[in-house]
Amino acid sequence: MKTQIPTPDAHREMRDALRDLCGSFDSAYWQKVDTDRGYPEKFVDALTEAGWMAALIPAEFGGSGLGLTEASVIMEEINYSGGNAGALHGQMYNMNTLLHHGSPGQKQKYLPGIASGKLRLQSMAVTEPTTGTDTTQLKTMAVKKGDRYVVNGQKVWISRIQHSDLMILLARTTPLADVKRKSEGMSIFWSTCTRPSATA
Ligand SMILES: Cc1cc2nc3c(=O)[nH]c(=O)nc-3n(C[C@H](O)[C@H](O)[C@H](O)COP(=O)(O)OP(=O)(O)OC[C@H]3O[C@@H](n4cnc5c(N)ncnc54)[C@H](O)[C@@H]3O)c2cc1C
Repeated sequence: MKTQIPTPDAHREMRDALRDLCGSFDSAYWQKVDTDRGYPEKFVDALTEAGWMAALIPAEFGGSGLGLTEASVIMEEINYSGGNAGALHGQMYNMNTLLHHGSPGQKQKYLPGIASGKLRLQSMAVTEPTTGTDTTQLKTMAVKKGDRYVVNGQKVWISRIQHSDLMILLARTTPLADVKRKSEGMSIFWSTCTRPSATA
């Protein structure tokens, strides 16, 4: 008979630290946030202070430069504790767009603030009332006027916008009719939002 040897968990220490932190926010805390239709500010602050929210941000910008597996462990542990990772996962993954497509100046301007939690980049505006899964059909246009872009269009379903300082906006810079491939002529913008003060 074969003996099953459990695979050692390479993230045991991380999990223990997260369980410790998440354990300070009990079911009553999350139920109150839910009943008040609030936002788990205190939980997000605690996670930020402990450095977990900046897990994917490279060390040169103030993060810990961890990978996707570690980010998944963080989300998993939040949900395992009875919390809701959906309230804050945007802060972790949206900055990847900035990291991969932002200019050196934009990265320097925003990433350290996102890593420290001073800035929240939690939202992305992609979906439109008439455009869902097929993003090549999106109609929001960004037209360059001098050193700025003027954006016209409609966006819906922008999760966590009321808890963000910045959001990623996907818009067309060239009309669909003028491009060879449907996916061409679209650009990503960093757009400002306003979040109210802490409520929970
Ligand atoms: C809780 C929630 C949060 C959201 N947050 C955000 C957000 O933060 N930012 C944002 O931009 N959007 C957000 N969305 C919007 C979400 O991304 C859209 O609902 C999604 O893009 C689908 O668009 P749609 O509803 O128009 O469906 P459609 O695009 O009309 O699709 C309808 C159905 O057809 C299927 N389908 C579509 N095309 C094909 C195809 N070619 N082949 C086979 N099947 C197909 C789809 O899988 C789907 O089941 C959120 C949605 C929800 C529910």
